[in-house]
Amino acid sequence: MSPALLIKDVRIFDGEDEIPSGSVLVENGLIKQVSEGSLDVSDPSTIVISKPGHTLFPGLIDSHCHAFIDEQNTTLGQSLKFGVTTLCELHHEVHNMDWFRSRAATDPDSADFKTSGLSATVAGGWPAAVIMAVHEPENAKDIMTGWADLQTKADVETYIQDRIRDKVDFIKLMHEDGNGLTVKPVVPPLEIQKTIVDLAHQHGFLTIAHALSYQGTIDILRTGVDGMTHTFVDKPITQEVIDAYKINNAHCDPTLVTIASLTKDGREEQEKYAHDPRVTKLLNSESQEHLCKCIGLANENSRAEYAYESVRQLKAAGIDIILGSDSAGAALGTAFGFSAHHEIATFVRKCGFTPAEALKSGTSLVAKRFRLNDRGRIAPGFRADLVLVEGNPLEDIDHTLDLRGVWKQGTLISAYKDLVA
Ligand SMILES: [Zn+2]
Repeated sequence: MSPALLIKDVRIFDGEDEIPSGSVLVENGLIKQVSEGSLDVSDPSTIVISKPGHTLFPGLIDSHCHAFIDEQNTTLGQSLKFGVTTLCELHHEVHNMDWFRSRAATDPDSADFKTSGLSATVAGGWPAAVIMAVHEPENAKDIMTGWADLQTKADVETYIQDRIRDKVDFIKLMHEDGNGLTVKPVVPPLEIQKTIVDLAHQHGFLTIAHALSYQGTIDILRTGVDGMTHTFVDKPITQEVIDAYKINNAHCDPTLVTIASLTKDGREEQEKYAHDPRVTKLLNSESQEHLCKCIGLANENSRAEYAYESVRQLKAAGIDIILGSDSAGAALGTAFGFSAHHEIATFVRKCGFTPAEALKSGTSLVAKRFRLNDRGRIAPGFRADLVLVEGNPLEDIDHTLDLRGVWKQGTLISAYKDLVA
């Protein structure tokens, strides 16, 4: 059992509110006590860290990534170094799921992992269209072996039973009509989508849907999904979209960073970050290379500005906006861990969030929407997944990248072990 930990004399953002100077006591991987001012403990075995001028906030929760296995453990390891303590995966090859779960459970230097397993899709649908566009035909076929092709109600029933067998954490639907893209995927019929949502709900699953177009977003929201991943790029937002969100009380994980890579509007900013020493020291070389490039699959109708404006208006209408980066092995313009910071900084710079609202979107609000009730807050009883940065990110969100310590369940990860040396 790891010794107790006291982090004191720090600014605390607890996932919702700020304590200008306070202390956090951690025992057995959980937060035991949070108090204003400087706390002292009598037990000499307690590790005490006093860090005036620093800020402590809950570990970031990225609601959207696509994991992959490599020797450097980029997915779970690099993410954790950046303070992303929980990764939610929204579509993955079923054969790797147990590997990620066991790594997350046993390796203190790997982020925690939740997954939808295989998404609900059709042959030629999303993301098959993009896999076929970027891979050699034989390779693409290999990647897509075993993917769902839901044509009938019976197919949906089997699909949901398979997800129950796989103990997935949520169900991911794909609804991509390609209106804003240079590819034209097959769109699953809405009655099939509705059957997936209804059956998933009957079994208690949260449902999250992909759409990148205006019409796709409205159509899939009308099937009753609980949340959207991505906002749309092909048209300006209207009241019709806001109403569709409101009927379901759906959340939106807009993936603005990935959208700006799709439209290439993000290139300049990606380049800037790819040469920021605070970022590069934590990125492997492949991630750094990816960060300088754009996906560029958007067509001439698409604008990143439509996406930013949709987030401004959805937020103003009271829709929960949450952090999701869409980081993936092959996704240009993203990097595991870093892109979570990029996304919440984009909420501030492009969508008018206060830094506190952006941090909430990346911590307590994701936890609430994804039903991860044991994390996302610095409060007694919650997991001690913690991030320490120098400076005050509640004044300038850029300080989230001034990382000085990351704890997973109360254990300081090895990348920051000098903090207590
Ligand atoms: Zn994705």
